[in-house]
Amino acid sequence: MPAIAPVPAIRIDAAVPTPARRGGRYVLYWMTAARRLGHNHALQRALAWCEELGKPLVVFEPLRVDYPYASDRFHRFVIEGMAEHASTMREAGFVYLPFVEREQGGGKGLLEALARDACVVVGDDFPAFFLPHMRARAASMLSELGVRFEVVDSCGLLPLRASPSAFNFAHQFRRFVQKTLPAHFDGAPMPTPLTKGVGRGEADLVASVVRERYRFATDDELGALDALIAALPIDHTIGGIDEHGGEREGRARMKRFVAKKLARYHEDRSHPDDDVASGLSSWLHFGHVSSHEILAEVARATDWDPSKIAKKPHGSREGWWNASDAADGFLDELVTWRELGFARCHHTDDFTTWEGIPAWARQTLAEHRHDRRPALYTVDQLDRGETDNEVWNAAQRELRETGRIQNYLRMVWGKTTLNWFDDPRDAFEALIHLNDKYAIDGRDPNTYTNIGWVFGAYDRAWGPERKIFGKVRYMTSGNTVKKLRMKDWLSKWSDGPTRSTRGTTLSMYDD
Ligand SMILES: Cc1cc2nc3c(=O)[nH]c(=O)nc-3n(C[C@H](O)[C@H](O)[C@H](O)COP(=O)(O)OP(=O)(O)OC[C@H]3O[C@@H](n4cnc5c(N)ncnc54)[C@H](O)[C@@H]3O)c2cc1C
Repeated sequence: MPAIAPVPAIRIDAAVPTPARRGGRYVLYWMTAARRLGHNHALQRALAWCEELGKPLVVFEPLRVDYPYASDRFHRFVIEGMAEHASTMREAGFVYLPFVEREQGGGKGLLEALARDACVVVGDDFPAFFLPHMRARAASMLSELGVRFEVVDSCGLLPLRASPSAFNFAHQFRRFVQKTLPAHFDGAPMPTPLTKGVGRGEADLVASVVRERYRFATDDELGALDALIAALPIDHTIGGIDEHGGEREGRARMKRFVAKKLARYHEDRSHPDDDVASGLSSWLHFGHVSSHEILAEVARATDWDPSKIAKKPHGSREGWWNASDAADGFLDELVTWRELGFARCHHTDDFTTWEGIPAWARQTLAEHRHDRRPALYTVDQLDRGETDNEVWNAAQRELRETGRIQNYLRMVWGKTTLNWFDDPRDAFEALIHLNDKYAIDGRDPNTYTNIGWVFGAYDRAWGPERKIFGKVRYMTSGNTVKKLRMKDWLSKWSDGPTRSTRGTTLSMYDD
């Protein structure tokens, strides 16, 4: 019996399908999305190769400076994870190469240099942002080099390739998940694959010529984050946040959530003052936690196992997982809503564009293009939170300062923005820009699912038809203030409306 369990074939895409080179020095894992050492199918696949070929593992985790929106905030979060990996890997006797690019183009050629001595290169699948392009470039380079390249999907509970196409509605996708997911539970990743005695190696595995040409980050540098980050050509105006990146922090947050908040999730999640959501999206986005691990933790706490699943798929949120009302609600977000976006991004590339919004919604919004707007703002005014809407400004301020907005307020933040642009397409682009610039969990399939939802994606037409929104579902901050417990939140984040009377937008558009 091999020590490393095989990774389900459906998760492995042989992007360069040549045989592994048995004469290579090591198996290279190029870690770019599933930035974790446990519950990671890609790492497990690389270790399975190590075991089969009798070779050591080299984990190469790079961080570029030139991706859109690179800033202190995101760099800090990722590098905190890298520092943790460096010490775990060193103590466990594995070769780990953390590469923080120092100047634009500084990492050019590095993957190729490492791949020259590799038996096989294993990379991460992530279907959004710049990663699919980077992967395509790597595949063409590795194909020329004649090195096998496998891209492995550790994105979610349902393998990306299990869905036949993108889904237009969450309820359709939920039904599909209910039908398909149970067959994939057996393929869960190993929690701690590095403990199996496979793949250990010494640093001199990596040719000195590579080490001399490219400067990998030292433990001291990773530990002195301020100095390392200050010297990089990235946006220093977007500062770090109080929370820390990395697997340890993500796992601790997950455990706290499950122990202390999960039981109230279904009833209180929407109320900002109650703060019962998990807050895990940032760690999920950077791959610091996996949804498999989260499911295992929820299962442990609620005494759940797959035998409790409803016998037949029915497409409803309730009564399928049968863990508890709260856990069922949480798992529906984690699986149905999160993976809906991953499936979409896997199958199409329209997700970041206006053309990805359904035709009925674009049409109704176009029909209302000439409706009078309560105010028009520039993207810069929005960025600074200078609107007449107190709730919107507060949400924007929270996003700017902490990198997150609570889910319900995020919906209102999105919907309200639609009022302030003559062309809804400009509102769509402004939201993606602000979200990607500030949100730790931005630049993710979830970003596009949800910003699309603001404009009618995954939704139906609603009546009565309204000004500006037409048949697109309508929400206002005025109603939100009435409905939700949010006084504490508002007093923490609000400066009051910046100009004219408080709530101009609210009173014009309230139900
Ligand atoms: C305009 C707008 C923009 C958004 N942009 C993003 C984004 O860039 N990245 C992002 O991860 N989420 C985004 N969301 C979805 C949602 O707001 C966040 O996933 C959620 O608030 C994260 O907080 P949490 O981890 O505490 O969620 P919890 O309520 O604890 O849920 C657990 C997990 O389920 C998933 N999830 C929850 N709600 C949703 C949802 N509506 N859609 C998809 N997955 C969901 C997330 O992975 C989340 O971490 C956006 C929503 C809106 C309305």
